[in-house]
Amino acid sequence: MKIIYTDVLVIGGGLAGLRVATGVKERGHDTIVLSLVPPKRSHSSAAQGGMQASLANSKMGEGDNEDVHFGDTIRGSDWGADQQVARMFVHCAPKAIRELAHWGVPWTRVQRGDRTAIINAKKVTITEKDEAHGLITARDFGGTKKWRTCYTSDGTGHSMLYAMDNKAHEDKVEVHERMEAIALIHENGRCYGTVARNLMSGELVAYIAKATTIATGGYGRIYSVSTNAIICQGMGQAIALETGVATLGNMEAIQFHPTAIVPVGILTTEGCRGDGGLLLDKDGYRFMPDYEPDKKELASRDVVSRRMTEHMRKGKGVKSKYGDHLWLDITILGREHIEKNLREVKEICENFLGIDPAVEWIPVRPTQHYSMGGIRTKYTGESQTLKGLYSCGEAACWDLHGFNRLGGNSVSETVVSGMLVAEYISDFCESHESSIHIHSSKIEKFLETEQRKIDTLLNKENGEDAYKLRRRMEEIMMEKVGIFRNGDDLQEAVSELEELLKRSKNIEVFRSKSPAANPALVNAYRVQKMLKVALCVAYGALLRTESRGAHSREDYPKRDDENWLNRTITSWYNEDDTMPTVTYENIDISTMELPPGFRGYGKDLTKHHPDTQKRVDEVSKIQKELEEKGATRFEIQDSLMPFIDKLPKKYRGINERFGENV
Ligand SMILES: Cc1cc2nc3c(=O)[nH]c(=O)nc-3n(C[C@H](O)[C@H](O)[C@H](O)COP(=O)(O)OP(=O)(O)OC[C@H]3O[C@@H](n4cnc5c(N)ncnc54)[C@H](O)[C@@H]3O)c2cc1C
Repeated sequence: MKIIYTDVLVIGGGLAGLRVATGVKERGHDTIVLSLVPPKRSHSSAAQGGMQASLANSKMGEGDNEDVHFGDTIRGSDWGADQQVARMFVHCAPKAIRELAHWGVPWTRVQRGDRTAIINAKKVTITEKDEAHGLITARDFGGTKKWRTCYTSDGTGHSMLYAMDNKAHEDKVEVHERMEAIALIHENGRCYGTVARNLMSGELVAYIAKATTIATGGYGRIYSVSTNAIICQGMGQAIALETGVATLGNMEAIQFHPTAIVPVGILTTEGCRGDGGLLLDKDGYRFMPDYEPDKKELASRDVVSRRMTEHMRKGKGVKSKYGDHLWLDITILGREHIEKNLREVKEICENFLGIDPAVEWIPVRPTQHYSMGGIRTKYTGESQTLKGLYSCGEAACWDLHGFNRLGGNSVSETVVSGMLVAEYISDFCESHESSIHIHSSKIEKFLETEQRKIDTLLNKENGEDAYKLRRRMEEIMMEKVGIFRNGDDLQEAVSELEELLKRSKNIEVFRSKSPAANPALVNAYRVQKMLKVALCVAYGALLRTESRGAHSREDYPKRDDENWLNRTITSWYNEDDTMPTVTYENIDISTMELPPGFRGYGKDLTKHHPDTQKRVDEVSKIQKELEEKGATRFEIQDSLMPFIDKLPKKYRGINERFGENV
């Protein structure tokens, strides 16, 4: 039996996991990062368009600040987000981006003087201030009032992850690559680490730690077409769920990105539209202004994805042997701009479509992209129900994004939540609460249980083919739990997924029976877990009889604050259960800084909560009184919804901007 002890175990070597690891290491705690792949190959490196932080350096960002970023994020979330978490996030994003610059991210910078940009299909001249020259610039993105998305061409995630990984090396963070966490070790409501499987040798190892962090990213690969890397299979969410103690939040909140290429589903960044690209139908007609006259192609992602689908349903899609699609036209931006700011998009088009996007339109269609749901945590990143278990980044439901995430807010969340959660974990590790009380015989039991499960899979004969089960699960999710949802389809999805889960108990590993490096074995045990995650998504979607953000029910088209202003909480109590247990966590209007309102897209169909007006009146009264007294925006904000005390002291300072006297 191999047991490895450390202070802080981090499962996941993407942006979020590495940021936690460097943070705790700098506070003097020993840490080990586990990763399926070398960290630099984590999915974070695929992020293209950028990171939101309200720096307000560029001309088009003028007037931006935390308040504007906060408002955009809450509206974007369709009032599903935790507003205190959103405040903590917008306050820290400018700090995180500067920290990354210091660690080597070559952010694209403001250049003084005139430059040409395409806005609403027209060429305009933007004049950048002399004094902003050399500062981090930003591009436009969907659902934002200001240009706030900072970028490095369209390889933002790549440069962030490389800098973060280099920083982790510098800090001597220990990384165990190709080690897969397959179960959490826990006892009496306390998490003590994980059982991990060496993907090369097949050996099981117990990692025991004071604090365990799950930063394993999203679960997009439960869908048949996704922009996600193939390792985004929801294993972090699954192992948390399987404890029967930790809970998941808002699993049904799945984002579809408007512009993945057809048929393979690789993303072309929102930066294409942010920089001025257009969406066209089969007639070359620009249709988005008809649906969303104000934000057009730059409405929130959930909205654009729905409008595109609606338009294709009207017969306006381009027919292809891979199904209907629409066009993304970036030719309007010119070759020079594309080769400088959208070079990954250019390479993707060349390599996967054989086209030159500087002269040809790109075939696109909305595709599964992001998981708003995840391991439900407190603002500290700690599980609400399993002590010593933390989570951050896409794996978590912290809950910054509610029912729809804004583009650029995810990589930003990874590093902001990573830097904050590292501090809370360090505080925990420095307290008495963190001492480890688990007997080695108990650890051994966890190892034996996992070994038995693997042996059962390898010894099974005349069983089910895991690849077939998985393929069917992916199809069901795509066809029945997609952009537009309805009760009948969802019910069918849930029933069929439950059936697949039952069958998955009988999986046989075909082809190779090797207990060591064996992709068929890996697929077999992952499929059993993926099916549970898929059931959480489908069942949550079936029960939520309203439309909110990316969760769009055709049979319940209204956002229903009266009955559904809450978070979906999912548990899986017993190993033998074939369905998750779903409960709800209330979202309290009386403490909101920004009470529920109209998001600004289409018609306002909201069924309002009876307490909304009361809070709207309270908020405007406080605002008016304080404005009359000459209070600063910080003082007004603090009176509406204090949050600064929740932040670690070192991150409480005010952010400086041009033209703002702080
Ligand atoms: C194509 C694409 C483009 C995007 N562009 C943007 C963008 O421009 N801006 C933006 O804000 N967001 C963007 N996003 C979203 C953003 O990239 C992700 O949400 C974010 O990078 C997730 O980071 P993470 O650290 O949480 O997880 P990941 O980067 O996914 O890292 C997960 C880590 O967990 C490890 N892991 C997983 N399971 C296990 C296990 N069982 N045991 C051990 N290790 C495990 C993996 O090896 C990996 O190291 C984009 C997403 C996609 C798909």
